[in-house]
Amino acid sequence: MHKRLTLALSAVLAVAAFPAATQQPADPIIRESATPNIKIRNEDGSVRGGLRCGVKDPSQAERDAVDRGLRQFRKETNFGALAASAVGPITIPVWFHIVTKSKNGVVTGNVTNAQIADQMQVLNDAYAGRGFSFTLGGTTRTSNSRWFDGCGRSGVESAMKSALAVDPAHNLNIYSCKPGDLLGFAYFPNSFAETDTRHGVVMLHSSFPGGSTANYNEGDTATHEVGHYLGLYHTFQGGCAAPGDSVADTPPEPALHSVARWVAIPAPAVASIRS
Ligand SMILES: [Zn+2]
Repeated sequence: MHKRLTLALSAVLAVAAFPAATQQPADPIIRESATPNIKIRNEDGSVRGGLRCGVKDPSQAERDAVDRGLRQFRKETNFGALAASAVGPITIPVWFHIVTKSKNGVVTGNVTNAQIADQMQVLNDAYAGRGFSFTLGGTTRTSNSRWFDGCGRSGVESAMKSALAVDPAHNLNIYSCKPGDLLGFAYFPNSFAETDTRHGVVMLHSSFPGGSTANYNEGDTATHEVGHYLGLYHTFQGGCAAPGDSVADTPPEPALHSVARWVAIPAPAVASIRS
């Protein structure tokens, strides 16, 4: 019964017609020409400059539009009563799409099942007590050099995702590849319709737990990007000052290990964040 309630809530929230903000930038992802702020270790040991995350922070006008949409959503769905009836965290099935590259007999990007299991553990630990848990929906493995090297470019990204995505309205799809000089990127819930295959997380293959990207190989890239997927902004937006992530009593800081605002966050989870 509890499970069913949780699933029902999850399904309602996943497919409800939360309005896509019309003021989203044309491309909410930083893809090129950005100033590097981290060093990423390549497979051959060399180092290149990169960005931790390619997600652009929305403007105040965009955030206001999201807030209006959230208020309307809560009103139309009787959200409070629905959330109050749910027991336990919302469970999100996760599909991993491991894209690899093969060149001269050398395969790059082969994330192991053990690394995927470790990543799931990191995700569940990070969001424990925040209203969400994650289960492994499945794993696909695809050898495609074009997708592997080009998944940071919007055209290739879209082609890859439309081929691999599993029902994005009800599953979190995580794509492992090499997204340019980014560790990862994701879209906010309001960026597209829930069924749009662009939803999900794209992350650097070597940023999984145990991967070769030193300092960024403990699984936190996925945790950070899943935060965006769930609706979190960078908490350091506004220069580490209020309003931070829009939750008054969460200190503004450059960390995303807390879930604060998504259309699906149940009231009890919000309460636990605020306690
Ligand atoms: Zn980010």
